[in-house]
Amino acid sequence: MKVCIFDIKRFAIHDGPGIRTTVFFKGCPLECWWCHNPESISAGPELFTEDVIFDGVLLEKQVEVGRWEDVDILMNELERDRVFMDESNGGISFSGGEPLHQPDALFRMLKLSRERNIHTTVDTSGYTTPERMEKVCELSDLIYYDLKSMNSEKHKTYTGVPNRKILENLERTAESGTEVVVRIPVVSGFNDLDQDLVPMRDFLRGLNGLKAVDILPYHPFGTHKYKRFNKENKQNGFKTPSEKRIAEIKQLFSDSGFRTRVGG
Ligand code: SF4
Repeated sequence: MKVCIFDIKRFAIHDGPGIRTTVFFKGCPLECWWCHNPESISAGPELFTEDVIFDGVLLEKQVEVGRWEDVDILMNELERDRVFMDESNGGISFSGGEPLHQPDALFRMLKLSRERNIHTTVDTSGYTTPERMEKVCELSDLIYYDLKSMNSEKHKTYTGVPNRKILENLERTAESGTEVVVRIPVVSGFNDLDQDLVPMRDFLRGLNGLKAVDILPYHPFGTHKYKRFNKENKQNGFKTPSEKRIAEIKQLFSDSGFRTRVGG
């Protein structure tokens, strides 16, 4: 069985507990305007042309993003970091793109990780079928679940898909008993007002199993990639929320009993 990935990050400390090795799956059904990895969105390897200056001469270089890997061989390669994972209570994280966009490969890697006693984290948009969501809950140890907007029309405009499926799957995930952290990308110009965040807080308060929320302030880090990979950049109206506003938002969620972190 093969999986298409576009990167592997070793010694990652923000993708779950401890030291982790993070595998970035290629392909995502969403197209969020603030995405830091626009090269991850289309499925399968892609060729891009970029300008490079060599010896004072402007040349065109072909860059391939994404590669197919055999799942079992990849798992053996990831396990080479085992000593760091074990010593730090870390593990393997599956990110993207959207890992559930290649469900069979993801399930196989989660199953092999469990057999080998390796802690797993899955970072998901939640835009998948209920059956796939239930299976990922069953096979993984921690789920990072993105929540972007409670307003479905707005969600569709800024991500390309409505939010109903995502909200329903989040209810399922919270009830599954698997540890889940909801991650909210907070983007000034999209969702940093009370009218956006209070409905999110109210929805999350209604979920029984949910204990933790991460607030992820928007940064324009990935914008240079849009030019590099010939993608349309729609982030001109976005800003990083002020520290004061982020502190207020953190308070909003922690006052409701959630363990709330900024970043994460
Ligand atoms: S869900 Fe994540 S990977 Fe997919 S487009 Fe949005 S930000 Fe990018």
